[in-house]
Amino acid sequence: MKHLLSVADLDLDAINEIMRLTDQFVEVSERPIPRVPALRGRTVVSLFYEESTRTRLSFETAAKRLSADTMNFSVSTSSAKKGESLRDTVQTIEAMGVDVIVVRHSSAGVPWQVASWVDAAVVNAGDGEHEHPTQALLDCYTIRQQRGTLEGLRIAIVGDVGHSRVARSDVHAFTTMGADVTLVAPPTLLPASLEGWPVAVSNDLDDVLPKTDVVYLLRMQLERQREALLPSLREYTARYGLTRDRARLLADDAVVMHPGPMNRGVEIAAEVANRPNSVITKQVANGVAVRMGVLFLLAGANPREPAAGDANG
Ligand code: ASP
Repeated sequence: MKHLLSVADLDLDAINEIMRLTDQFVEVSERPIPRVPALRGRTVVSLFYEESTRTRLSFETAAKRLSADTMNFSVSTSSAKKGESLRDTVQTIEAMGVDVIVVRHSSAGVPWQVASWVDAAVVNAGDGEHEHPTQALLDCYTIRQQRGTLEGLRIAIVGDVGHSRVARSDVHAFTTMGADVTLVAPPTLLPASLEGWPVAVSNDLDDVLPKTDVVYLLRMQLERQREALLPSLREYTARYGLTRDRARLLADDAVVMHPGPMNRGVEIAAEVANRPNSVITKQVANGVAVRMGVLFLLAGANPREPAAGDANG
């Protein structure tokens, strides 16, 4: 694997390989000193043109735990503000000698462009409404950790699917892993066309919840909505929010997930986010180990010889 740009580039074997590597890096993360020398001498730069809390910190933590050097490019403090083009910025960064560029941008496709300009490996950390592959991998890992497998699981993805890069990547990853996915949303929050999406669609959350193994709530992405798509947030919550009452429709072992940042009280009630089968903080913790696996695959000295030697070294 040269880059990680899209989940669509990963087949079942590739996802499973990342899951196995992640198992080893979860073990590393649980050690008193959670650090291995696997990427010593390598440099990972994060190039974030869009705000982020967890993804950026997660990649940085992952790179540090692998002993890589890290550089951080933040658009608000950089020459991009002075009008420098993306291409010039990327080539300046590469001239400093980097092995992996982790890029987030509000425009779909930017990571592909970056990959065409540089020799370094490129990881897509979110491009517009398009893809967020490491989120999908950490979601697969978290579900597998809770339920053993995704094969045959019924997963409901609820909410603002149309604006969600998480939903696009998750649908691909979950179905590749053998899950049955149902999208639950008002028609205005679904993509204009679902052609080619291997999913069922419903607009009745109460009907779907009792038959669901995993319910995945999406954040209402008001910053991406260019027109009024809902009568009001209150009405949205009344029909599509995972309220305390509605959560009673779930089986006891049903798993509740959210990519963060959460709008408590909109798509998910505060007390539901805190219930025992809610794995939202586990998703964050697993994100570091998954990203360690991805960085290791892309920049490890001997990618064919996974973490065994390095993880114990
Ligand atoms: N953090 C995720 C993303 O960057 C989900 C969200 O923002 O709602 O896409």
